Amino acid sequence: MKALTHPVADALHKLRGPHYPFQRHIANTTQAPATCILCDTETDEDTIHLLLQCPAYTHRTEIAKHLNSIIERYDKTIQQEVIRYYSNSESNLIQSARILSRTIPPTPNDLRSAPWKRLWQRIFEVLDDHIYIMISQRDKLRKT
Ligand SMILES: [Zn+2]
Repeated sequence: MKALTHPVADALHKLRGPHYPFQRHIANTTQAPATCILCDTETDEDTIHLLLQCPAYTHRTEIAKHLNSIIERYDKTIQQEVIRYYSNSESNLIQSARILSRTIPPTPNDLRSAPWKRLWQRIFEVLDDHIYIMISQRDKLRKT
């Protein structure tokens, strides 16, 4: 039986390791520059640049809105846990790793685990859609 997987599964795997064809990786084996060719920030293109920084991707506010619409149905404790988890007070590396992670964070002591797991599954679905849009947009922009 063929497993139903989101088309982003393979990309997620590559984005977590050194296998995604970013300019930074291409530059290691060719004469190509490591800087992002989709923006003019002169920044090396890597996972952090794609997920957090590159101005060529215009829908980061959409994802924030989408995630907020999920968590606003939960109580303040849960909202704060989720916001803290994705907070940009962490280093860019940790923040990127968390955006790519599909491991449910430990259930806070005073919460039941079933609703906590359902919440994270919904968050992960949104992030999968978001990352799929970003890599599709990247492929399209690089071809034009
Ligand atoms: Zn860029």
